[in-house]
Amino acid sequence: MSATPLVSGLDLPIPGKTQLIPPLLGASVTDLSAWVQQQGQPAYRGKQLHEWIYQKGVRSLADISVFPKQWRAEVAEIPIGRSTIHHRAVAPDGTIKYLLRLADGQIIETVGIPTEKRLTVCVSTQVGCPMACDFCATGKGGYTRNLGRHEIVDQVLTVQEDFQQRVSHVVFMGMGEPLLNTENVLASLKSLNQDVGIGQRSLTVSTVGIRDRIRQFAQHHLQVTLAVSLHAPNQALREKLIPSARPYPLEDLLTECREYVEITGRRVTFEYVLLAGFNDLPEHAWELAKCLRGFQSHVNLIPYNPIQEVDYKRPNRDRIQAFVNVLKQQQIAVSVRYSRGLEADAACGQLRASK
Ligand code: SAH
Repeated sequence: MSATPLVSGLDLPIPGKTQLIPPLLGASVTDLSAWVQQQGQPAYRGKQLHEWIYQKGVRSLADISVFPKQWRAEVAEIPIGRSTIHHRAVAPDGTIKYLLRLADGQIIETVGIPTEKRLTVCVSTQVGCPMACDFCATGKGGYTRNLGRHEIVDQVLTVQEDFQQRVSHVVFMGMGEPLLNTENVLASLKSLNQDVGIGQRSLTVSTVGIRDRIRQFAQHHLQVTLAVSLHAPNQALREKLIPSARPYPLEDLLTECREYVEITGRRVTFEYVLLAGFNDLPEHAWELAKCLRGFQSHVNLIPYNPIQEVDYKRPNRDRIQAFVNVLKQQQIAVSVRYSRGLEADAACGQLRASK
């Protein structure tokens, strides 16, 4: 994966110790082998443990029947780090929204999105979100805490088990701002790739942009896709939607994105939520094209998904198409994401910790 280690060394629990025990989920086969050996067990038990955690989805070490009984009893209390499904809502298009209960009782949302050949999971990276973007439901509920790497990996395993189908893609587009939780996001990317077996190119991290963090992320030279939530073609408009755009202006964000392209050799995806009459006019499309000219990028338009607290409107198809046409004319690669799961309030920006 990357030349730089994403997680340093062995940081796994010691049985019988009452200190805060870091759960096992997210640990590599090497870490698990070292851990079992610390317990006086042969190294091959690490491989077994890895298989039981990631392939069989075991929830308690006490249930690993290939382990000696006495040792199982000793380590029974060591947490693996799995959540429980608190609520599950199926949309007519087959998208499933899950409310998952974490060990401390916090609730997060995860979405499973099946399409013909894919099963995509949209994972949360924080409980709530501090960014408070005006059009997003998650921000309305405030911010509680970052998720641990195990809590991110768990979301993927949970959807995989519930669908009884391998997850092919993961998008970090659920609740929270991934680049405010970079360490756990990097550790979970590594684990999803190496332990769960999802190709790096099938992993996408979406950010609204946090100063210096995109450059730092680039330095890990991952093959994952970076998506940046742009949503406006100029600073004045962006500031109205995204409070954090004030101290971190569009120009600085775009400069950092250019550096990302230079460092990684990978293009950036720009997300642009289309709000009728606000940022969806042809002149906005022209301005956006101007911003992105010569930039190795791709624009992903997201027609606004309604939330209760604000009265933005989704543009009609003609307006969306007109916006697309301008970008295409200007040789900007563009696609439209018609969000799935609308009926279950599981679409982009509709995630909050309630049914
Ligand atoms: N914090 C990250 C990831 C979270 S949301 C980020 O900002 O990128 C994933 C995408 O959904 C973001 O582009 C976000 O701006 C967009 N989004 C939020 N609310 C939305 C809404 N009501 N309708 C459509 N897209 C929305």
